[in-house]
Amino acid sequence: MTEDNLMALANTYYLPPQELRETFDLDTFDGVRWLRLLMMEMPTVGNMAGWCASCKNIESHRSTCYRCDGPLVCFDEAYWSDVGTKIKAAVQNDHALIRRVKAEAKAFRFDRQTLYIPSVLAWVRDEWDQAVTPEGRPFDPITQYKGANCVHDFRELGFTDEEIVDLFAEREQLPDGPVKIKRRDYAGISGKVLREMRDRAIASIGHVPASLTSVPELWRTMAWVKEQRENPLARLNGERPRAKRAHGLKSSS
Ligand SMILES: [Zn+2]
Repeated sequence: MTEDNLMALANTYYLPPQELRETFDLDTFDGVRWLRLLMMEMPTVGNMAGWCASCKNIESHRSTCYRCDGPLVCFDEAYWSDVGTKIKAAVQNDHALIRRVKAEAKAFRFDRQTLYIPSVLAWVRDEWDQAVTPEGRPFDPITQYKGANCVHDFRELGFTDEEIVDLFAEREQLPDGPVKIKRRDYAGISGKVLREMRDRAIASIGHVPASLTSVPELWRTMAWVKEQRENPLARLNGERPRAKRAHGLKSSS
């Protein structure tokens, strides 16, 4: 897969920012959300004029809200300084936060977009630039999405979740012809074709992801991906498939 393809793929995972901002109540944002907003989801926010607390509109140039003509909460130095205090608290609570968010941004190629970081937040920019990828195997959202897409495709073909997991776990020796193991018939697809489908899916993902190793893992991943796609706040919170409320908790990674 080329990098351009990957970028296109990443874009389909995320709703466009215009749709996201309607839901943002920036007053309630903690440092975790602000960091992801500035560095990944909406880097242009650092270049905006302010936001309207009544209708949640974020303004680029005007000094009043174009929708309700209400006064804006201005993104001035004092505002960004408060944001900085929130981010500092989040980093103190979770020392790997910036490293981890940067690894996610890299996975999505979001590390290539232009960042607009207010000057008072220069220290965040510096820490971001210096942050190295966490050791071990860092959380890889792309693999989760690919695994979920794969489950979706197999379900569409008529596979049960048990059949999907069995196929990827290679629990059964598949004959070349029609497959009938207990009550499973793998959507009536021959064993030869099933093996090819499995190999192609694994090649495109890179390895068999945890989401395809058991039915509960599969369900967890599907629920997580659905939530990530539909709820921008879940993304800004950095929720993980295996820790439903990772937000605010110290992470081990
Ligand atoms: Zn307004």
